[in-house]
Amino acid sequence: MDAKANEPKTLQEAIAYFADPENSFRFAIKLRWPGGEVSCPRCGEQKFSFIKTRRLWFCYVCKKQFTVKVKTIMEDSPIGLDKWMTAIWMLANCRNGVSSHELARSLGVTQKSAWFMLQRIREALGEQKFGRGKIGGPGSQVEADETFIGGRVANMHAKRRATIEQRGPLMNKTIVQGVYDRQLRKVRASIVPDVKRETLQNILLKNIKYGSAVYTDSAVGYDKVLYNFVHEVVNHTNEYVRGQVHTNSIENFWSLLKRSLKGTYVCVEPFHLSRYVDEQVFRYNNRKDGDRKISDAERFATAMSGIAGKRLTYTELTGKDQSPRHETTGTRETPIPF
Ligand SMILES: [Zn+2]
Repeated sequence: MDAKANEPKTLQEAIAYFADPENSFRFAIKLRWPGGEVSCPRCGEQKFSFIKTRRLWFCYVCKKQFTVKVKTIMEDSPIGLDKWMTAIWMLANCRNGVSSHELARSLGVTQKSAWFMLQRIREALGEQKFGRGKIGGPGSQVEADETFIGGRVANMHAKRRATIEQRGPLMNKTIVQGVYDRQLRKVRASIVPDVKRETLQNILLKNIKYGSAVYTDSAVGYDKVLYNFVHEVVNHTNEYVRGQVHTNSIENFWSLLKRSLKGTYVCVEPFHLSRYVDEQVFRYNNRKDGDRKISDAERFATAMSGIAGKRLTYTELTGKDQSPRHETTGTRETPIPF
């Protein structure tokens, strides 16, 4: 077993460390099964033999083999564990995200494979929501706001542009709604279909405890929120900050999100946008623990703990037919575990 001191702290170290299959394997076991207590991902039993040369187990109950990838987002993937670990490290830690082209170059896989890997990692990061229940509560302060994200009509195919221009400028935009908890300094954000009062307020009611101080701008969507919360509004036409009453933190999150979408992800289909939002939320919420900066290694471990043990498999995410073939063998099955 490697001492913790040898474990990677930077991207360079991570690439070198995970390039050793035994390191990748040991590390994945540790993060997937806390304490390293391996159990069958299908039945949960610990009655198995371990085939060391192939790094796989044979479950005596299921009468089937399993690898560290089974029942995780890496299941069915012909890409090696070393590349997966590096990709997860990159996405968890690169502030403005990672494009599939960049990942393809770094890992030496096709851009299509890299794209599928990133989508699956994002899906798992999205599960890492801070807290399951409502946030806030009496005495706490929450900011709520929404933002519009979308391509410019000028860059669009003429036919699509015509449809959008007919329906009005907002039809081209995807709306993201978010809440920010000032005590926890964490954000939740999701795609919403519209900015109607009912839609926005339902999200607030689902996410925020009764008695929280909720700060919004003066959008009509937040009108009459005060029946459930202590609601204060900042009117952006003539003021931006009135003491505590502002939405600066959530707006700061929007600008980070937009910067990464513009810089790294040049065109994101609205259908996929929620995964990019989840990715940005993950990095944002895992940047600090109180006033202490969270290290890259810690953020990676958090990401890995979400990826391992997830029911979400590649098949469920994409439908098996679309899974990329192995670059050299052309098969869709994993010929060797990793
Ligand atoms: Zn089993």
